[in-house]
Amino acid sequence: MIRFFNTLSGSLEEFRPLKEGEVRLYTCGPTVYDYPHIGNYRAYIFEDLLKRFLLLAGFKVIHVMNITDVDDKTIKGAARQGVSLQEYTAKYISAFFEDLKVLRIMPADIYPRATEHIPDMVRMVRGLLDRGYAYYKDGSVYFSIQKFPAYGRLAKIDLEELKAGARVDSDEYEKESVHDFALWKKAKEGEPFWETELGSGRPGWHIECSAMSTRYLGPSIDIHCGGIDNIFPHHENEIAQSEAYYGQKFVNYWLHCHHLVVEGEKMSKSRGNFYTLRDLLERGVDPVDLRFFLLSTHYRKMLNFTFDSLEQAKASRQRILDFVYELEHRTFAAGSASEVQSLAEKMLSNFREALADDLNISAALAALFEFIREINSRLSREQVKQDDSVAILRALAELDRVLAILPEKREDALSPELMEKIEQRQKARKEKNFALADALREELSQRGIILEDTKEGVRWKRIK
Ligand SMILES: [Zn+2]
Repeated sequence: MIRFFNTLSGSLEEFRPLKEGEVRLYTCGPTVYDYPHIGNYRAYIFEDLLKRFLLLAGFKVIHVMNITDVDDKTIKGAARQGVSLQEYTAKYISAFFEDLKVLRIMPADIYPRATEHIPDMVRMVRGLLDRGYAYYKDGSVYFSIQKFPAYGRLAKIDLEELKAGARVDSDEYEKESVHDFALWKKAKEGEPFWETELGSGRPGWHIECSAMSTRYLGPSIDIHCGGIDNIFPHHENEIAQSEAYYGQKFVNYWLHCHHLVVEGEKMSKSRGNFYTLRDLLERGVDPVDLRFFLLSTHYRKMLNFTFDSLEQAKASRQRILDFVYELEHRTFAAGSASEVQSLAEKMLSNFREALADDLNISAALAALFEFIREINSRLSREQVKQDDSVAILRALAELDRVLAILPEKREDALSPELMEKIEQRQKARKEKNFALADALREELSQRGIILEDTKEGVRWKRIK
């Protein structure tokens, strides 16, 4: 059984997709007004873990992530630099895609851009006006939250104190100012706008996600993700718009990840504790270490970023890398030892089960490290054989479909013929036929393989 914590119900629920074997996943993407910071990437990596786990569990996943390329922030940024909205956002869009690559975040199937879906948004706003959920005021269109009784259910907001008809124009606002919100904003001097049947203007941020998610995934989807700061007002408003328009449940499972703080404090530019991925790369941080750091704390816990904790994550990851290296470069006796392969299978199933329990990554990694400890101890007693090593490496590769932390470029395994030579040399040494052993070592070295005799056996390396 797979279960996730659903923000909507406030409880753990068994996960059942609408269509068997298929998951429709929508994740709120970046607002491309700046380089994303590491807190943004915490959310994207949590979503990547979720998606990779669903794939490992055998689901087909259809994943849509929007690009918000028009909203209050992008418009302000473009105006400040005196460039067009498109010119301004293009730089951040391409930076975002570069970042995803270095962090090994699997690409979504579709990255719809808000500016390319204005007609979809207009159609929804028109429909909301026709159905009486929205109204015009001074050329802008607002959603009337009183018309939607379920408003506030996701964010658990009490609407008692709500001032009827009070409106808010900005895309982002606090819970204290829950108001009718703008679906369509009337064109303002010096701001980009579209001529549409609603009048000239531009969409509010919230309608963008409602229009783009339902456009590609249909009116009802399985999972919608974001950071907890998206719950209100953004996701609350998405529910109101989508359900009022389509008259059916918008999202079955809402999954939100907690904040990332730096040295225990909220990240902010004025505090000087604000880091983009680029800032960290410039300091020499390996992005895959950062990936491992970001994914190894449970998504519903606050994550405290410190350079010390990043170092610890790096060291943990190194233990996994060393283990894999050891297995790939050791020579083993033919055959298999009892138990080793079943230990590998058990580790994999524990890993899967832990993730099936609301992505319990700590338990999943504990299963992996326990396994590494156990196998290392057997390695030192020479209780691992050739077939076992192959099975262990296969299990680790399976697990890396989710973690994505192992080196991408690995040395090719040795050919059976060269392995055979190494074994012959071992045999010769045992028989004290040192002339033959040395000749074989020399031959291997001529062919680019050097041998290292260790307490635990022989390791090989390729000469560059
Ligand atoms: Zn969104």
